[in-house]
Order: sequence, then C-alpha cells, then structure tokens
Amino acid sequence: MSLDTQVLVVGAGPAGIAAAATAATHGRQVLLLDDNLAPGGQIWREATTVQQEDPDDVRRKTLLALRVSGARIFSGWRVFDAPRNGSLRAINDSGPEIHTIDISYEQLVLATGARERFLPFPGWTLPGVFGAGGLEALARGGFSVTGKRIVVAGTGPLLLPVAAHLRQMGGRVTTVAEQASRGQLARFSTFLSRQPGKLIEGLQYRAASGGSKYRPGCWPLAALGTDKIEGVRLTDGQRRWEEPCELLGCGFHLVPNTELASLLGCATRENAIEVDDVQQTSVSNVFAAGEPTGIAGLESALLTGTMAGLAAAGKLEEAKALLPRRQKFERFAERLKTAFALRPELLSLAEPDTIVCRCEDVTFEALKGYEDWNDAKRQTRCGMGPCQGRVCGPATEALFGWRASSVRPPLYPVPLSAMGAGPSRSSLDE
Ligand SMILES: Cc1cc2nc3c(=O)[nH]c(=O)nc-3n(C[C@H](O)[C@H](O)[C@H](O)COP(=O)(O)OP(=O)(O)OC[C@H]3O[C@@H](n4cnc5c(N)ncnc54)[C@H](O)[C@@H]3O)c2cc1C
Repeated sequence: MSLDTQVLVVGAGPAGIAAAATAATHGRQVLLLDDNLAPGGQIWREATTVQQEDPDDVRRKTLLALRVSGARIFSGWRVFDAPRNGSLRAINDSGPEIHTIDISYEQLVLATGARERFLPFPGWTLPGVFGAGGLEALARGGFSVTGKRIVVAGTGPLLLPVAAHLRQMGGRVTTVAEQASRGQLARFSTFLSRQPGKLIEGLQYRAASGGSKYRPGCWPLAALGTDKIEGVRLTDGQRRWEEPCELLGCGFHLVPNTELASLLGCATRENAIEVDDVQQTSVSNVFAAGEPTGIAGLESALLTGTMAGLAAAGKLEEAKALLPRRQKFERFAERLKTAFALRPELLSLAEPDTIVCRCEDVTFEALKGYEDWNDAKRQTRCGMGPCQGRVCGPATEALFGWRASSVRPPLYPVPLSAMGAGPSRSSLDE
C-alpha cells in the first residue's frame, strides 16, 4: 500500500497534534501518524475522544483543533524505515493481519517524543520494576495498582505527577525518592518562581501525592526479591534502609527519541535533533518539534509543534515570530538538565553480574574494557535485541561515555516480509 501527502507528521503527542492541526488549518494536506491507538502521546495517553466535559482545558482545545483541522489520522502505525528520499515506511501489527504502508511526503515533521532513561542497579530487571512513566502508562491502560505498595524513584519532574496519578488510581505510594539534592531542587524552585504556572503545577502534584514521603537526595541501591520485587534498598548517602513494596517505578529523567531523525541524516547535538529558528532540521523539508529537540515539557511541545506546522505550511515569518517564546522554554530545559543531573554515585550501582542489556542478557562485567559502543556491540551483542539499544544505549552512555552512533533500518523489530523488496535507505547510501 502507498500514499502521498503534502505534510507527514510522525508522532501524535502534543507536539505532533499541534503541528498537524496548524499545517492543516493553513491549507496543507496533512497525515498524522502514531503507533498508539489514539492521538495524545505520553501525557494524554488515555484521551481517546474529545470530551466536552474534559477538565483539562489545554487537552480538550488541542484535540478539538486537530479534529476540526481536516488532518487525516493514522493511529496504530509505527514508522520503521525510510526506503527512499521523501518516503517513510510504517507497519500496523495491532490486528490479526500485518499491514505496511509507504508514505511519500513533501514536508515531514518529526514529533517522536522521548523515553525514560534507565540505569542498571542490582535487581532492576526483577518483575515488578518498571519505568516510572511506564508504570503510570500501564496503570492508565488498565493494569491494576489498587492497594499495591509502590515506591517511585529516580529523578526528574515526572516523578511527582506519576506518584500523584498512581495514588489517584488507588496505589499506595509510600515514598518518592528523588536523587537530586535538596539544594539543587531549591535552586530550581527559585527559577520556577519566575514561571508561576509551572511552580503551581509542581505544588499541586506535590499535594496530590501527599501521604507519600518525598525524599530529595535519595536513590535506590537495589531492588530486593527473588522471583519478583519485594522491596527496595534506598540510601540518602548517609544511611541505608529497606522499604517493602510490590511495585517500583524508577526512571532517571528522559532521553529524546532521535533514531528516525538519525536514519534520515538529521544532525543531532547533545542527543537532541538540531533545529533552526523555525524548527527546520539539517535536512531540507524535514522539521522537528517537541521532546526530540530537547526535554522541555508540554507547553514547549505545543509551541514548537505549532512552529513546525507553520513552517511546513510555508508560513516562515509566522513561525519565526514565536521564537522568543521558544527561547524561554530553552532556558527552562537548561535548568531542568542542571537540576536533575545524575549524581556520580548512580554510576557505580551496578555489580559485576548486574544485567545492563536486558534484551541480550549482557552484564556490567561483560561490557568492561571495550573502546566504544560499536566495539561492545560487536563483541557482546549489547544493543542488538528488540529494543535496539533504546534502553541500554543511554545506560552505557552514562556508565562508560559511549555514544550509540549507528542507526539502521528497521528501527523496530518487524517481520521480514515487512521490509519489502525495495532497497532501504542505508543500502542506497552505501
Ligand atoms: C513514559 C512517559 C510518561 C510521561 N508522563 C507524563 C505525565 O504524566 N505528565 C507530564 O506532564 N508529562 C509526562 N511525560 C512527559 C511528556 O511526554 C512531555 O512533557 C510532552 O508532553 C511531550 O510531548 P511530545 O509531543 O514531544 O511527545 P510524546 O507525547 O512522547 O509523543 C510522541 C509520540 O510519537 C510516537 N512515536 C514515536 N516514534 C514513532 C514512530 N517511529 N512511529 C510512530 N509513532 C511514533 C510515540 O508513541 C508518541 O505517541 C511523560 C513522558 C514519558 C516518556
């Protein structure tokens, strides 16, 4: 199956929705494609329909704007290859049959979001240990947390909303362990006081997770248990103690999803896609918006999505007029990085037998002594499993300073038949 569109947007989180609605409103023929069952991305995961009574005004207005814009929406489709210039290939394997589609575009907007960063520590692969945002997403999807004793740990602004939402869904969140120190958090709060909206949001989440102990300067040493998690060993650098739990949600902030951008040859800097003043990447006619261009939260995703949508519709001056607002979010993103920078102690949690690459069962010990990511990959199969280095790549970067440099199609595991007969981009480039 193949299709043509003027503007193709990959990723239907807030950034992709804003880009698609904006470009379509400006008269472009737009196709918005996402691998989830409905538009919304990570933060609005459960928002399958536009509800007039939706208490979240921003979500309601954004989804309504998409609905009335005329953009076509392809949900359940995942882009895994770029077989030719100006064309992407996607798969839908959510039903009994597998479908693939090639979509040709004039302009492309990459709004592929971010994922959590995981750091290996003893026991982190036990059943019952999840990413913090991942646990929340599972719970929103129907996984019951009711009555379960939960510890949320790691770092970043996501921990408090996750704890608050898990409590709302009936979980007994006993502790939120944030590795950033009290001093770092105090400096971040001072900065936030210049953006009262964000400070109030943080305080609301803090209040909603009330009943849980919020511990700055505290991090997990080990998940305890044999067949499943039974507790977590925590430390504040002075003391160590164990807390019983049935679930541990643990994530160390977010990393941008840049694999598709890299496959297309877009330049990246500090693991984020580089964009100019109107969200154009280093590749002509390819724009990027939201978290793949830097971790800066919902409002930034909506703004940069709007800018990318305007630019893709040829409204460059209008897009550029929004640059000063974007710069405000860029300052916020820098502060986020400083406030939630990883403390060195986190990089020495893994024991020799701690798994680092969980797809291929590669231990910390097995990875020691290699020059770089490619060398380790060739010798140990680290990063060669189904996640294609999405989990162990950022972990080995933190632990060993390796950059996962090579990206090849397919970006996700797909059946051989889905690769098609046509040459893939990498073989054309060779
Ligand atoms: C697990 C997780 C949970 C989060 N929960 C919260 C929360 O509760 N509250 C909060 O304030 N912030 C949360 N965030 C942060 C939030 O995602 C951002 O602040 C912001 O909303 C990002 O918007 P976005 O459009 O850039 O990306 P996203 O919302 O991440 O949207 C990107 C979309 O692109 C899709 N996609 C990626 N690659 C492909 C591909 N190859 N083919 C097809 N589709 C693709 C993804 O599935 C996703 O739907 C969460 C982040 C993560 C990673």
